[in-house]
Amino acid sequence: MDWKNRLRHWYTHHKRDLPWRATNDPYKIWVSEIILQQTRVSQGLDYYYRFIDKYPDIQSLAETDEDSLMRVWQGLGYYSRARNMHRAAGQVVRDHGGRFPADMDSIRSLKGVGEYTSAAIASMAFNMPCPVIDGNVLRFITRLYAIADPVHKSTTRAAIKRILDEHMDIQDPGLFNQALMEFGALHCKHARPECHTCPFQDDCLAFLTGRVPMFPVKAPKAPKRNRHFNYVVLLKKNNEGIWSLIRKRDQQDIWKGLYEFPMCETKAPAGLDRILESGLITFDDADCRPIYESHAFRHLLTHQVILARFFVLQLKEMPPLTNAWKAVNLKSLGTYAFPRLIDRFLEEELQEIEKKIK
Ligand code: SF4
Repeated sequence: MDWKNRLRHWYTHHKRDLPWRATNDPYKIWVSEIILQQTRVSQGLDYYYRFIDKYPDIQSLAETDEDSLMRVWQGLGYYSRARNMHRAAGQVVRDHGGRFPADMDSIRSLKGVGEYTSAAIASMAFNMPCPVIDGNVLRFITRLYAIADPVHKSTTRAAIKRILDEHMDIQDPGLFNQALMEFGALHCKHARPECHTCPFQDDCLAFLTGRVPMFPVKAPKAPKRNRHFNYVVLLKKNNEGIWSLIRKRDQQDIWKGLYEFPMCETKAPAGLDRILESGLITFDDADCRPIYESHAFRHLLTHQVILARFFVLQLKEMPPLTNAWKAVNLKSLGTYAFPRLIDRFLEEELQEIEKKIK
């Protein structure tokens, strides 16, 4: 089966015009690959432009502070990936004089750069014949060869890598990899693959045997865990405006490095009394006026469902600040990176809440 020419031909006529395809700068390819692990191309484009505008080279990324980086990454999720990029940029500046390393061992040694990302950078920036295996490639190859072994198994991936090694276009590995991924994304799609116009139709075992929907075979999904987050939004008004308390999440958990209001996690939905009894934050009860209680905001993550409620209280005096807490004017909230869930609450509810403050 002559893949290279069929793929190249298809790619030439169907590829999307994307900015990271017009460069062989390993830094920009790396940024695009990490962003595309989080989101679809259509949403990733905005993030890519914003990221490259703010951090045009690896030096600028290495020199930034984590809060600024989180603002740029906000909404993409998997915040540890952004922190890893920050550390990897520091490694490149410190250990490689600011030049992105061009050998596989050094690329792999960068923080957060795994098999997929290293193969993408090595092939697209440095012309190394390393196959990339993302979800689009897995789908296409498992259908083409009717591979019925679950794709999460290392033996299945090794078998797919052997197939790709055999067919790799060693003259232009970067183009071969991009064409493979693009073909899976646009033609051999998850839903309604375009089999009737497919250049691989005569060889595709899944199509020839009427079993396309059976591939790829995936592991059964683990049930998602429900978590109940109860936020207490403390507000105080003075001559300079309305103030609230926030802190940075620093525990080994989701959203590390992002900001939040005081929050108490419970095993089930809980009322305000129960939250305040937890000792989350102490203040003089006589000073406190509950002004708003939100509905449950639902936020889906890969393995968890977050169900969040916001209890808004107006205080005459803020509790004493410790190191962890910051008092911020509501007008400045936009300069802090919050989880998307809190942003939604602020977007949907803040205006109404401000009207209730005396
Ligand atoms: Fe994918 Fe259909 Fe083409 Fe097979 S024939 S490679 S299933 S689009």
